[in-house]
Amino acid sequence: MRKLDTRTIVVASHNAGKIREIEELIGPFGFSAKSAAELKFAEPDETGTTFEDNAAIKALASAKASGMPALSDDSGLVIDALGGDPGVYTANWAEREDGTRDFVMAMEKVEKALCDVGAATPEARTARFVSVLCLAWPDGHTEMFRGEVEGTVVWPPRGTKGFGYDPIFQPEGFDKTFGELTSEEKHGWKPGDATALSHRARAFKLFVETCLTA
Ligand code: IMP
Repeated sequence: MRKLDTRTIVVASHNAGKIREIEELIGPFGFSAKSAAELKFAEPDETGTTFEDNAAIKALASAKASGMPALSDDSGLVIDALGGDPGVYTANWAEREDGTRDFVMAMEKVEKALCDVGAATPEARTARFVSVLCLAWPDGHTEMFRGEVEGTVVWPPRGTKGFGYDPIFQPEGFDKTFGELTSEEKHGWKPGDATALSHRARAFKLFVETCLTA
């Protein structure tokens, strides 16, 4: 396991919601970070078939373009009744023909797919959010950290906080969706905390515990 010996990194993402969450997570550790979007790096094609493949593609592209270590996140919603869909294609389900993303449409697609397979009860609508964080160095070395959070897909969408599919995902043990939880409740995590809630915060906890400590 390679340790990270700098606090100057690139956040290898063009997704505003993710960049905000990653910046909130790295903030307490004294990082100075710019995103791939701010640096105007081209968005690489996510041609992988796993979260790990796509996380590596994004982190390596930013590490090579910047000459600095880069941290990416590849994530998605894995729904049991849909055979794991949308999974690595979670962002694609939100894509319109003109290339823009529409998450209201994407959430409706998920609901239609669940209705089509007759998944009506909470037990039939189990799902998990997965996040794989990849830390890549310009020499091509990578380290991966995977976080998952179990929950249920609910309808109609609830809450306006968060981003993406947050309004239809209710984490296990909560009566609120990610869209109704505050950012502190969704992904607030500090060293010493035994648990983190969101998939991204859980992956980040592993990153801190394995890559940042001496
Ligand atoms: P990608 O990792 O850029 O391929 O895209 C991940 C997709 O999953 C995006 O469409 C996100 O909106 C969605 N997603 C990932 N994490 C979250 C989350 O924490 N809340 C809501 N949607 C998410």
